[in-house]
Amino acid sequence: MASKIGIGIIGMGWMGAVHGRAYLQVRHRFPDSSLLPDLVVCADDVPARCEEARDALGFTRITTDWRQVMDDPDVSVVNITAPNHLHLDMVRAAAAAGKHIFCEKPVGRSPAETAEIARTAADAGVLTWVGYNYRWAPLVQHTRNLIGKGALGDITHYRGRFFAGYARHPDGVLSWRFRREDSGSGALGDLMSHVTDMSHMLAGPIRRVIGQKALFVEDRPVAPAGEGTHFSVGTGGKREPVTNEDYAGALVEFTNGARGTFEVCRVIQGTHCQMAFEIHGTKGAARWDFERMNELQLYTVDGPHDGFVTLQSGPAYPGHRHFNPGPALGLGYDDLKVLETYHFLQSIAEGAQGEPGFNEARAVAEVLAAVERSWSSDRWETVGEID
Ligand code: NAD
Repeated sequence: MASKIGIGIIGMGWMGAVHGRAYLQVRHRFPDSSLLPDLVVCADDVPARCEEARDALGFTRITTDWRQVMDDPDVSVVNITAPNHLHLDMVRAAAAAGKHIFCEKPVGRSPAETAEIARTAADAGVLTWVGYNYRWAPLVQHTRNLIGKGALGDITHYRGRFFAGYARHPDGVLSWRFRREDSGSGALGDLMSHVTDMSHMLAGPIRRVIGQKALFVEDRPVAPAGEGTHFSVGTGGKREPVTNEDYAGALVEFTNGARGTFEVCRVIQGTHCQMAFEIHGTKGAARWDFERMNELQLYTVDGPHDGFVTLQSGPAYPGHRHFNPGPALGLGYDDLKVLETYHFLQSIAEGAQGEPGFNEARAVAEVLAAVERSWSSDRWETVGEID
């Protein structure tokens, strides 16, 4: 019989609400789940956001002091969806209280902070999870399985990109994401973290990188406190400088010899959320783009066509059947969050660290650290442990 597990969510902005809904959905989408999440408490320093979350999602308690979540005996899982600069302190407190931790990417503001967070949780022996949600698209998991079975042969090429337009408007507000002290890096941590994690899962570890960066919108109107999201557009008022990058790109060399490129941007025109990969091996190739997340382009040298064929997501692919019983009845962004939440809860039920946890985030951070080093050195940098 399933048992209840108490959840405390900190930071009730966009992600806090998405995570809250995901915990609630687990019982409907995965009736076989060993653990049934109970939304015990949410915290946000903006009282209206707590109240809204309580009314919409049914939290038993609300607080404007996140430390109360750590002290709450009914909470077993601390879910961190606050801005990046708060993650380290929150993980330290949650780990000290013996709670399992789901922390949103990029986990720390800097690679060094991510490594420290990973160490803190490992020392405390708690289980961890990270919001690399794009992994969980059924056709992405299918690609992973195909590669695992050797259907694409030896991997030779990988192109990963995340072209987002959330800040393309020059009057898009200066939220915490655009300030180095609050966010850490810009597009690198925000977007290349997803791209790197996906490439690790599909093509394996990376040996060395050389990167570049750019800032295209140098100042923005200051965001009104406690309102809106990073998609909001300002209506005048004071402007302040953006202190991290809008764009990051890298050439990458995988340890298996595959060659690749990563490119991410938050101000690009035309695309909105093109989190995508193209992967080629000696026996085939696959390409996927979140903007068409229910489709996969697949080519195998032994297949019937001399070119890509399009697969449509359906119950034959991992996770899909929990949402819809037929092919082409597609999933959406929030469904990926339900899938990742379910897998996190299963790892807790089994008492075994699953993937992606803080170990995978540290591996991503090691790559991002090498990209950052190459910004200064202007040379190829070897990926290695972070001091
Ligand atoms: P957001 O600005 O919409 O929400 C952050 C919330 O934290 C706000 O409600 C804010 O009031 C609250 N907050 C700020 N200081 C606080 C404090 N001291 N105590 C409690 N609450 C506080 O941000 P967001 O877009 O939801 O991003 C949150 C996290 O999620 C970030 O780490 C971000 O990188 C990550 N994220 C991940 C994805 C993904 O696809 N996996 C997407 C978006 C954001």
